[in-house]
Amino acid sequence: MKIVLLGAPGAGKGTVAKLLSELDGSVQISTGDILRAAVKGGSDPGKKAKGYMDSGDLVPDSLIMEIMEVRLQEDDCDKGFLLDGFPRTIPQAEALGELLGRMGIGLDFVASLEVPRDVILDRLTTRRTCSNSACQEIYNIKSNPPAPDGTCKKCGRPVIQRDDETEEAILNRLETYNEKTAPLIGYYRGKGLLRNFVSLSSKDTVEEIKKSLKG
Ligand code: ADP
Ligand code: ZN
Repeated sequence: MKIVLLGAPGAGKGTVAKLLSELDGSVQISTGDILRAAVKGGSDPGKKAKGYMDSGDLVPDSLIMEIMEVRLQEDDCDKGFLLDGFPRTIPQAEALGELLGRMGIGLDFVASLEVPRDVILDRLTTRRTCSNSACQEIYNIKSNPPAPDGTCKKCGRPVIQRDDETEEAILNRLETYNEKTAPLIGYYRGKGLLRNFVSLSSKDTVEEIKKSLKG
């Protein structure tokens, strides 16, 4: 499958992408994960991205496109891909359209995950992430807590609150989403590619997306 997942921070794009990738081996491509790995690895793109990310701003389109041009042409994408967190601006969407056109690839559709704002806020402030960059398991202090000693149930490393998950950064991420990313809904609707999913449970959303792929 070749799907773009669109939605506010905390809408569940990552969880849905992961579950979908387990269905048929399509790769989950998360620009957030790629950028966090680059920051940790201390590479040039990582150094450029860190400040934007910590304050909840978007990384410049040119940097994202450099990364994604390379990533989308890697062999594992032949099986299909789930784009999680990309595109996030109209220029990124236009550049993606051009790139896929050159590659002779069409998207199945763009899945817009719709979640009420109060649910999003609650999820983001209670979210915790495994600090092991190879694991990055996501926890929630209310609904899915880490081990009692604050470590990851999968790999045993400390579970932390991301720098961009302070209240100030979260509010900025939501504002940035409304301003820069929400316009993609209209953009893709205009191209006839948009499908809406009211997404309160990731599992239910995956089932709906599966049905939508068949229909
Ligand atoms: P979330 O969707 O929960 O906000 P992500 O893990 O997708 O978090 O992204 C974390 C940060 O990485 C974003 O706040 C932004 O700074 C940067 N980022 C990720 N993807 C993009 C993108 N496509 N364009 C610009 N910045 C991005
Ligand atoms: Zn872990």
